[in-house]
Amino acid sequence: MHADARAFPVGLSLAEAQARIVAVAADHVAGTDSIAIESALGRVLAEDIIAPFDVPGFVNSAMDGYALRGADLDARTATRLRLIGSILAGGDEVPRVEPATCVRITTGAPLPRGADTVAMKEDTRVDGADIVIAPGTQPGANVRAAGEDYHAGDRALGAGMLLTPARLGVIASFGHAHVVVMRRLRAVLLTTGDELVPPGKPLGFGRIHDSNRYSLGALLEQHGVELLRHERLRDDPPALRDALTRAAGDADIVVSSGGVSAGEADYLPRLLAEVGQVHLWKVRIKPGMPFLFGGIGRALVFSLPGNPVSGVATFLALVRPALDAMTRCRTRGKTLRARLTQAVRKTHPRVEFLRAALACDESGVLHATPLRKQGSGQLRGVAEADALIVLPEAAQDYSDGTVVEVLALSGVS
Ligand code: AMP
Ligand code: MG
Repeated sequence: MHADARAFPVGLSLAEAQARIVAVAADHVAGTDSIAIESALGRVLAEDIIAPFDVPGFVNSAMDGYALRGADLDARTATRLRLIGSILAGGDEVPRVEPATCVRITTGAPLPRGADTVAMKEDTRVDGADIVIAPGTQPGANVRAAGEDYHAGDRALGAGMLLTPARLGVIASFGHAHVVVMRRLRAVLLTTGDELVPPGKPLGFGRIHDSNRYSLGALLEQHGVELLRHERLRDDPPALRDALTRAAGDADIVVSSGGVSAGEADYLPRLLAEVGQVHLWKVRIKPGMPFLFGGIGRALVFSLPGNPVSGVATFLALVRPALDAMTRCRTRGKTLRARLTQAVRKTHPRVEFLRAALACDESGVLHATPLRKQGSGQLRGVAEADALIVLPEAAQDYSDGTVVEVLALSGVS
């Protein structure tokens, strides 16, 4: 044990740890950037987007067909109308529809003056100079009102939303070529351990490949963080101290893996206390208990346990809330509820993250099946999982069918 680190609060509940992390992170909110919308997918919107005008801006056709006056339609029998012109989307010569006439129209074209209805092409036939419309088209059909999507002044998108393809489309439809988003957080990732060998290099006895560099690097990327660099470090205090200090000088956040438990080579808690501040160490969760959080200068430092599953679980449970607070993101990582498909016995007083497969039955009920590989070193369990089941602290037996909270693993929800 590290005598220095013992003085810091240990064994917080998950909720206490999250609250502390978010409170610190809220003092480290990133700035904003105005960027081209084509580069904004996945970014966090920094400002509300207000509709500057009605969308659509004019009454137009929802179908390819014929624009006509609803009063001309006969509900019981076919209606014959004289074709007097046409208007295509983008056309600016807007004809006028007189009684007993119609105008050929395409989807999105402005509705001709006098017209209030569009008969879809499939419900019509051409007969010489006339169009014959089958009975059934209701007056007012197939017309899009101006402003039916957005009215001028509507709050269309809110600050804190993630920019999805459709939301980018909305911004473009308002005529904006740029959008103000939260600046991407910059991270340095440190993986630590004398046993680590990069993929592509042969393993010696007792060595393993450094998989956390890739799983944690990908989690950062998936959450919109810019990875400035990665360093693979030996369990060597001077090298670790130097790397932590340099990383904190360059990045908004430093994420490290390994070296935070109570083993002989677990130097991180002591080193962080030396070069910065420890805000919390150890959280009552399984896996991931030795999680360490602190700061060096303006950088926040998240030291994750080396076990691969602990890394993923602590990232989602404890790093992601900080990233969201720093970028004021409001929409990520929603928890779902699902029914257990088998009994679970929980014997310890820590929040447990169980690797689980999700399936939805015919009636729309979501079911969670805990996977067999639940060891914190077994990456297979998390690789095959759709979600983590989050079981509360109390030791308890859960019967088959109990509704539990689940945290989806499939990317940014
Ligand atoms: P530690 O947290 O340093 O005590 O490491 C706990 C376990 O995670 C040990 O079995 C390590 O070998 C393993 N481990 C540590 N770092 C990594 C890594 N970067 N990739 C894969 N496994 C790791
Ligand atoms: Mg280690």
